[in-house]
Amino acid sequence: MGARRVADRLAQFVREKRYSAILAPTHYIQSANSPWLEVDARLTVLLRQYLDRAGAGNIPIFYSLAVSYDAFRSAEERGVILERLADLPIESLWMKIAQSGTVTHTSVRNIVKGAADFHSLGVPLIGDLMGGWRGLSALAFGAVGGICHGVTQKESFNGGSLMRPVEGEKKGFTWPTRIYVASLGLHLKREEAMAFFAAHGSKSRFGCRMKERCPKSWKDMLDNPVRHSLVQRSLEVQRLSNVPAQHRAQRFLEETIRPATDAAVFSESLSFDGQEHLAKRLSENRKSLDRLRAGLGRFVEERQLVSFSPVPQRRVVGR
Ligand SMILES: [Zn+2]
Repeated sequence: MGARRVADRLAQFVREKRYSAILAPTHYIQSANSPWLEVDARLTVLLRQYLDRAGAGNIPIFYSLAVSYDAFRSAEERGVILERLADLPIESLWMKIAQSGTVTHTSVRNIVKGAADFHSLGVPLIGDLMGGWRGLSALAFGAVGGICHGVTQKESFNGGSLMRPVEGEKKGFTWPTRIYVASLGLHLKREEAMAFFAAHGSKSRFGCRMKERCPKSWKDMLDNPVRHSLVQRSLEVQRLSNVPAQHRAQRFLEETIRPATDAAVFSESLSFDGQEHLAKRLSENRKSLDRLRAGLGRFVEERQLVSFSPVPQRRVVGR
């Protein structure tokens, strides 16, 4: 199907269904040489034209840039990508950077440095599928103006999953919901969480304290993991947004990362019956948090030129 017909159909669909915004259909960008970059940019321009013609001139386009970590890290490749995106009629840029594994201060630095280039587009950057410490750090350091991710899962984006064909038997597979222990930044499987809270001292230290949402504390974390996780994460984001942008990174370190390292030390002292795997996970989490805290601490001190992403507008859907 030609680009014009795609744009036309999308515009009609948005108008008929009365959507409040549209995510431009884009491809995974493995490197800045990708021919899709040009195709996606052109389609976005056409989409704007067809939306306007369809009487949907007020519907904003969000651009999803799904990009490999290698391409994002390279200043040269970022330059090429930026050139393509400049002047596109978009309201925000949803950045999906293919990264997996534990967050490190180096990866946070790379996100912050790379994102700063994209601030020149003058639109808010959203960290798409960017959860956990990675997403919160990116927010705290001003790399992105918002974050978006799945609930208790899909907190990072792995380009590989887009490149593989869908396997038949995996269709409809959903990850089991996990239990979010906010002060440790950890998601535990149900069995792990049960063992975790059975350990002496764990309930009082790690049980949820949001009385209105989780009145039964750790029991509600197990029984309503999604609600608990949503409330905790929005609290974390809210806590950051309440601090002026230039102080956010420092405060994030002091009020979130430092207490997390203390909590992690405590979690390491818990004893579990026959859960070596959990004990090992908690110990690894403690080590990686210590490194993150030290590395981000240096980053805060060294930072001179600071660039902040504009913050996205709040949208009320359905009006
Ligand atoms: Zn809770």
